[in-house]
Amino acid sequence: MFTATSSSGRTVSLLNDADRECMETNATWYCPFCKECLQLKTGKKRRAHFAHRPNTACPSSNPESERHLEGKALLFQWLKAQGTDVHVEVFLPKSNQRADLLVKNENERIALEYQCSPIAREHIRRRTALFHSIGVQVLWVMPFEHLRRKGNIVYLKEWQWEAAYLGRLSEAPDTDLQRMPALFFFQAPSILWTAHINGYLSPRKAHARFVAHRLPQAELERVRTPATVQGSTQRNALLAYKKENRYGKRPSSTPFSMIVQAQLLRDKIPIHLHPAEAGWFLPEQTWVSEAPVLWQSWLLLKIISQFKRQSFISLQTLETEKQWLSTHLQLPVTRVQILINAYLRLLVRLQVLKIHADDTFTLMQTPNVPQSADAGFKMDQHYATRLCAVNNAIAPSGFLPL
Ligand SMILES: [Zn+2]
Repeated sequence: MFTATSSSGRTVSLLNDADRECMETNATWYCPFCKECLQLKTGKKRRAHFAHRPNTACPSSNPESERHLEGKALLFQWLKAQGTDVHVEVFLPKSNQRADLLVKNENERIALEYQCSPIAREHIRRRTALFHSIGVQVLWVMPFEHLRRKGNIVYLKEWQWEAAYLGRLSEAPDTDLQRMPALFFFQAPSILWTAHINGYLSPRKAHARFVAHRLPQAELERVRTPATVQGSTQRNALLAYKKENRYGKRPSSTPFSMIVQAQLLRDKIPIHLHPAEAGWFLPEQTWVSEAPVLWQSWLLLKIISQFKRQSFISLQTLETEKQWLSTHLQLPVTRVQILINAYLRLLVRLQVLKIHADDTFTLMQTPNVPQSADAGFKMDQHYATRLCAVNNAIAPSGFLPL
């Protein structure tokens, strides 16, 4: 780590020139978090840093790799050079966690976490939720060595999906449908890659638009702004997944997949004849381990059956569905709520539902189950055009495509 506290109580950062100049050489240094004694390491090979004793119990002392220390320092210098108010290794007492880097803007705080080792999806989720709970945005940055790509396809591990940046989250994502999740890969010393995910392909693959930002010129604000993708590119990305589901491999046989497919078969719907209104990419898909064609087909059939009993629905009407999805997708209820809300609004854009001022929805057009894969794919193409036309129409006003 780069920060330590002296016996006089002054906290210094080795990345801060002014701090370094007035550091007494023989001082004793303490960890700002656990107060244990630290060792200042100033070898020739590695950047100067503080280290805990080998058997420490400090939560912030997981041994940092060379790559992690170096990346953290370089990202700090990049942000500093822009005149950003940035601090390294900031302890946030309210959420009891430490941010690798914390940027303070006029009206927001952004944590940059340089994640060099693969970790569990739940871990990323928990830490992100903690940051959000105290009003801090978080950007997970991964080393470039973790980027697996082939053309415009990015290969992702579960935790990497979870590390996607979604920008500000709200429960009423009216414009949020236009957000694109982004992943950041740092190619030390001076390129920050952004993979803007604009289509889902499988639990391990996504369509992405890659942008290489040169540091230090590229500003943080620029780096985290969603990219635009041409309507036709977007349409192809959406249809690649649909085509796979109509004509290609079946979704992998997870327990969730088996349950949903069994339920669909009771309604005489094999998965390749799923309603064309299901199986679309939403930014929030990054939280979900299961394929969109599965959870959306299931939810859509539930929505249709609600309309057989009543003429309007709302998020409250879908309480049972919310609980069921929360259990089976292993997602917190609050996130399922955002997910369902996003899907309802997608159905509005497909002109299947109509939304009213009081956030209720009425049915404009009853979805049909296609009689063949060809008929289904024809409908898919029609809907993809509709979604991308909406994107193109709103792109110039500052909102960005799906
Ligand atoms: Zn410590």
